[in-house]
Amino acid sequence: NRQIILARRPTGMPDDSNLVMQEGAVPEPDEGEVRVRTIYLSLDPYMRGRMSAAKSYAASVAEGAVMEGATVGRVDVSRHPDFEAGDYVLAHGGWQDYSVQPGKALRRLDPQVAPITTAVHVLGMTGFTAYVGLDEIGRPESGETLVVSAAAGAVGQVVGQIGKIRGARVVGVAGADDKCRHVVEAYGFDACVNYRDDDFEAQLAAATPDGIDVYFENVGGAVFDAVAPRLNDFARMPVCGRIAHYNDTEAPPGPDRLPGFMGQVLVKRLLIKGFIQFDYRHRHRDFQRDMSAWVAEGRVTYQEDIVDGLDNAVDAFQGLLSGRNRGKMLIRVSDD
Ligand code: NDP
Repeated sequence: NRQIILARRPTGMPDDSNLVMQEGAVPEPDEGEVRVRTIYLSLDPYMRGRMSAAKSYAASVAEGAVMEGATVGRVDVSRHPDFEAGDYVLAHGGWQDYSVQPGKALRRLDPQVAPITTAVHVLGMTGFTAYVGLDEIGRPESGETLVVSAAAGAVGQVVGQIGKIRGARVVGVAGADDKCRHVVEAYGFDACVNYRDDDFEAQLAAATPDGIDVYFENVGGAVFDAVAPRLNDFARMPVCGRIAHYNDTEAPPGPDRLPGFMGQVLVKRLLIKGFIQFDYRHRHRDFQRDMSAWVAEGRVTYQEDIVDGLDNAVDAFQGLLSGRNRGKMLIRVSDD
């Protein structure tokens, strides 16, 4: 049973001195438990937070423990009445070949209904994040301008498409020209600007002639700095993520812009609200109904970036934190 453990907490970008592959025993399930063979491991930016000892909304992974993560797999041995060998399941198996979990922690997947990978993307956590962040906080109205950062990524691609369904003008911000082209051509965004371009601020202004009513914040950093002055009165900003800062080792250089920004919060009556998707479990049924229909009708499409082999997981995770991924990042740990 190959396992990637958190050997040492990272400072800055994690590497293979922090995340180390080891060989462990294949675990045996007790009564009520199930052993699952991992097919896909979902790589997600929140994992960077779990590697840190800083206090957050969820506990850190302990040093020496297997890195956690959502997985799609197949039941290998079942000692739970609801599952049998061969069933496909959504699990939280972590960065390893085999995991043992209580049956109640698993959700059975039907590959006839949707590809199994969708359970960790468009019909799973990242799709749900986009859905609740927009519906509960962003609330774009028809004709309003919605800007989303990390637009080509797992959450961002879904945010933009829901924004179009809600009738908004949707502008993406991404870090590569091919990503920008893709969100316009494949997902129907009205425009997309590359924040790495020298004239990014001018491009953003040209793409948002009526200002910005909703900013779906995934990154922070220079993108936030460019967006903030363009927010309209009564704009809403769901704060979903701040990936530009996850590897920060010190405070950003001054001057302190917070008093100026808080002044704008007041005079423009901005709504800024952080959220974590699991606080909106009560919306899960609505999400399943709407998103399954949108995917079936082709109104929401999606892109996955699948890297082969658990031994490539650390490199792929670095890629996720630096923009190398093209869509939802997944590791194929074993063949179906
Ligand atoms: P993505 O698929 O979007 O991948 C991450 C992307 O972030 C990269 O491809 C890169 O795209 C972008 N990025 C990385 N570094 C920077 C930087 N310095 N400045 C700007 N962009 C950067 O990941 P997810 O869709 O899974 O996650 C997107 C965000 O949503 C993250 O912040 C994550 O933490 C957050 N999230 C929050 C949840 C919640 O409940 N609040 C749940 C799930 C995710 P590019 O090429 O455009 O730079």
